[in-house]
Amino acid sequence: MARTMRKNRALPLSGSALAKFRKQLLAWFARHKRDLPWRRTRNPYHVWLSEIMLQQTRVAAVVPYYQRFLQRFPDVQTLARAPEQEVLRLWAGLGYYSRARNLQKAARQIAAEHGGQFPRTREEALALAGIGNYTAAAILSIAYGEKLAVLDGNVARVLARLGAIRGDLRKAGRWSNLQKAAGALLDPATPGDWNQAMMELGATVCTPRAPRCLLCPVGEFCEGRKLGLAEALPEKRKKRAPVQVRLAAAVLLDAKGRTLLLPPPLSATNGDGAANHVPSLLSKMWHFPTVSVNGSAESALRQYLRSLGASAEVHSADFLRLKDVRHAVTYREVRVAPFRILLQQLPRVKGGKVLPLGGIDAVPVSNLTRKVARAALPPAPNAKRRDS
Ligand code: SF4
Repeated sequence: MARTMRKNRALPLSGSALAKFRKQLLAWFARHKRDLPWRRTRNPYHVWLSEIMLQQTRVAAVVPYYQRFLQRFPDVQTLARAPEQEVLRLWAGLGYYSRARNLQKAARQIAAEHGGQFPRTREEALALAGIGNYTAAAILSIAYGEKLAVLDGNVARVLARLGAIRGDLRKAGRWSNLQKAAGALLDPATPGDWNQAMMELGATVCTPRAPRCLLCPVGEFCEGRKLGLAEALPEKRKKRAPVQVRLAAAVLLDAKGRTLLLPPPLSATNGDGAANHVPSLLSKMWHFPTVSVNGSAESALRQYLRSLGASAEVHSADFLRLKDVRHAVTYREVRVAPFRILLQQLPRVKGGKVLPLGGIDAVPVSNLTRKVARAALPPAPNAKRRDS
């Protein structure tokens, strides 16, 4: 396929074709939209929360988190006042925790600078932590009816197919052309519904694989479909090469089944050298003592525990290696070697927390830490003592 951008035959539409396009898409949205909790409100705080949670996360996964979060933090002020650890605990499992931190930071900005009300202008919204062009347009159009068109990967895919646009959509010039096309299609009478309709079309009909063109409400306008290119568009971007990350984690256990977790500040800010051993992947949530590995996983872990000031009992204990845990974070492919280490008494580590292994969710932990806990609970019958 030629790597050039076609002249957009279908975009932007104008006159009666544009009016028909808008009418058909909005009518379809009114009939077929999914009933989602954040669609039953125009409350800017609720819309904002849903947009942040939905970033890179499936709708089905977001719904229970959204509901729990709003129960605990029903308004901006409550969120602004809450301890960060509490916010992260409610977010735990959704991933991409910087979203939760930025959400609270922005809540504090809104409480301090906007009287607790989400601002109404694009410039003010963009000044908030965690809010970019897409999120600002989504929130302001849905909550306040501002005439701002959203453009994310989902909408870009729909536009690329409608206009049979080839090449890497994320290239600067191409992306700004798409933004203009999205703006030209936007229905100024109902910008919030319009944006949601475009996103819904991308999520349920014009899907990344196997678009359901026969059911598409705007199929007659689609150049990609006419040219038989729907599935081939958008063209694939060059993927960033995956980076392999190897870690070793210590699941220390006492006779009562309790374990030791280390806190986020220890790994993030400790200036005594130990922080250098704690991989950035784990640095902002509670986690098992964990270290990056180049050679022997067990040796690296023993050395790290020594640097934390663990007791002599830890040094002489058996390190039982459990089945490796695999985890993917964007381009990083993480492989963790968990070790189960039985002790009479857990070491005292400044800031550390002792919890039942089955109850680590009492503090904010990442999915990776959960996987490590699962590997150690119950003891794997086929665990081998080996090292690599
Ligand atoms: Fe997408 Fe097919 Fe509709 Fe075109 S006709 S917008 S490719 S679902």
